[in-house]
Amino acid sequence: MKYDVIVVGAGHAGCEAALASARMGAKTLLVTMNKDNIGFMSCNPAIGGIGKGQLVKEIDALGGEMARAADYAGIQFRQLNSSKGPAVRSSRAQIDREKYKFYMRNIVNKQENLDVTEEQVIGLVVKNMSVIGVKTSSGNILSKAVIITPGTFLNGLLHIGFKHFPGGRMGEKAATKLSDSLKNLGFKLLRFKTGTCPRLDGRTIDFSGLQIQEGDKEPIPFSFSTRCIDRKQVPCYITHTNQMTHEIIRSGLSKSPLFTGIIHGTGVRYCPSIEDKIVKFADKERHQIFLEPEGLNTFDFYPNGIATSLPEDIQMDFLHSIKGLEKAKPMHMGYGIEHDVLDPTQIYPYLEAKLVSNLYTAGQINGTTGYEEAAAQGLIAGVNAVLKMKGRDLLILDRSTSYIGVLLDDLVTKGTNEPYRMFTSRVEHRLVIREDNADLRLRKIGYEAGLVSKEDFDKTAEKQKKIEQGLKYLRREKIRPSKETNQRLEKLNIPSIKKTVSLEEFLRRPEVDISAFGIDLPDDVLNQMEIEVKYAGFIQRQIKDIERFKDLERIRIPRGLDYANIPGLSKEIKEKLKKFQPVSLGQANRISGVTPAAIMILMVFLKKTKSLPIIPICSHYKSLAVQ
Ligand SMILES: Cc1cc2nc3c(=O)[nH]c(=O)nc-3n(C[C@H](O)[C@H](O)[C@H](O)COP(=O)(O)OP(=O)(O)OC[C@H]3O[C@@H](n4cnc5c(N)ncnc54)[C@H](O)[C@@H]3O)c2cc1C
Repeated sequence: MKYDVIVVGAGHAGCEAALASARMGAKTLLVTMNKDNIGFMSCNPAIGGIGKGQLVKEIDALGGEMARAADYAGIQFRQLNSSKGPAVRSSRAQIDREKYKFYMRNIVNKQENLDVTEEQVIGLVVKNMSVIGVKTSSGNILSKAVIITPGTFLNGLLHIGFKHFPGGRMGEKAATKLSDSLKNLGFKLLRFKTGTCPRLDGRTIDFSGLQIQEGDKEPIPFSFSTRCIDRKQVPCYITHTNQMTHEIIRSGLSKSPLFTGIIHGTGVRYCPSIEDKIVKFADKERHQIFLEPEGLNTFDFYPNGIATSLPEDIQMDFLHSIKGLEKAKPMHMGYGIEHDVLDPTQIYPYLEAKLVSNLYTAGQINGTTGYEEAAAQGLIAGVNAVLKMKGRDLLILDRSTSYIGVLLDDLVTKGTNEPYRMFTSRVEHRLVIREDNADLRLRKIGYEAGLVSKEDFDKTAEKQKKIEQGLKYLRREKIRPSKETNQRLEKLNIPSIKKTVSLEEFLRRPEVDISAFGIDLPDDVLNQMEIEVKYAGFIQRQIKDIERFKDLERIRIPRGLDYANIPGLSKEIKEKLKKFQPVSLGQANRISGVTPAAIMILMVFLKKTKSLPIIPICSHYKSLAVQ
């Protein structure tokens, strides 16, 4: 049987890619090495976090599954940065690892148009530099497009002290032949590394003297479609390393694969191992450890903050030096993993490989780290594989539309020489692109792609209408400075007013909260109204920046443009443009070394050759405060 799309790998990228493809009507096959581990969380049991919560909300707005899975399996929800401005607020949830996997496996297995098979893909079937299927040990399976999402399995090598053995993660085989096959096709591969913490038996942890970290009293779901979280919520605990712990780790550095030159791959700068932290921050007296429950029906705890690849005996010794862990028994030891990744400048922002057409890559293979980054790419790869097959416009999310757009643009335009993790600071328009308005920005795109239901789309349209009406109300309604009004304000600790003002003007005061007006609208609508009013000046400025940014972004460069024939461009710039094959003048402008003069030459050339089509604008966001 011939499939439309084959997805290799059933991690976070693979599940989203396969679901998107099947839901858009393509006959899809998901090939994975272990059917039981569909949607498995390899490292810490958590979804979201700073910069990552935004990705999860965007995945949901576009019709992906991660947010709903997190809502189903979440056992502690927290709004991070809630005391800071809306641009940097992010959601995070502690996840029941087994329940997450159960949910994802179930959704994948039930999905119409989607078959699942347990095989190892050992190569790609390629004809005239176009992929036409995959090779497995039991034969070839043909398809029109292939999406590969092999995660840390791609030529994975595990490390614990002096022990080194191939593997995709602990207890699972590495995908070595697939890596060879990519190399043979001419792809440039890099080597990255990451690591994970030991897992502890909670029955052997003494929680009595530890700080408790509760979740939010009223958990806010990730998905715009989830009404409420009704699962039992549980706390995390906080402990710290100490001088003794550091001493033990220092004494073991000569046995650490990180410091003996055995691991060559580049590691995650923002998520260092404990041995890395002790060396890099030698003057720090202690490091925080979050003891995170792995689920409601297990005793396992994940000691977040002590990822390590030290030998087992040293891991045991340093664990036992930590308050609360004096008698802790590990269920599994921590370990490091090195794996291959593709230099992501070899792919387009719609995730198709430049070298081999109809081949898409998503997730850790593109140089990222994290479940959310992987899932976001999987969704985009799945959507584009089907759009291309149907001859429709591809989905290119640019930097001004979404965190996903920034992630993709950074990867394909700048490349990465270390595992790439999303942060709010990477997003220049983050006051406009927020977690709370992901539905207003992206639902329409998900709906048009066929991934969002009519009901969810209508719900967002209704919300938008209510926000508009609410803002009109705030502009229209006035408060007058009567004695009564000022007495009421005094009771609310709000300074009195001396002249008549609209509710909108009044709400601009930092001490005024929209809840003081008693407007009968849903909380999410009131929240949007409040942000739009309080931050109107900043939002308007960012929208102007976005408009300027879009000027170049809208100008598409035809695929396969021959730069050699464009007069006036230097040899170096021609080579750069040939290598990166930017999809728009905006992207060309961001390639390091491409000068403004070169952009002008390119623009004139495109105008002359009449090849100046406009990329469909993917953002449907408009500031409602700017009328
Ligand atoms: C030890 C370890 C530590 C980590 N530490 C962190 C961390 O600190 N912070 C962080 O954000 N992330 C961390 N991660 C990374 C996180 O797990 C990944 O970023 C995320 O899971 C990537 O998702 P993915 O879908 O790309 O791949 P994965 O989740 O790895 O899934 C890969 C899938 O592909 C399948 N597969 C692979 N090759 C083949 C093949 N040839 N044929 C068929 N199926 C195949 C596998 O069976 C699996 O289903 C860590 C991962 C590991 C293993």
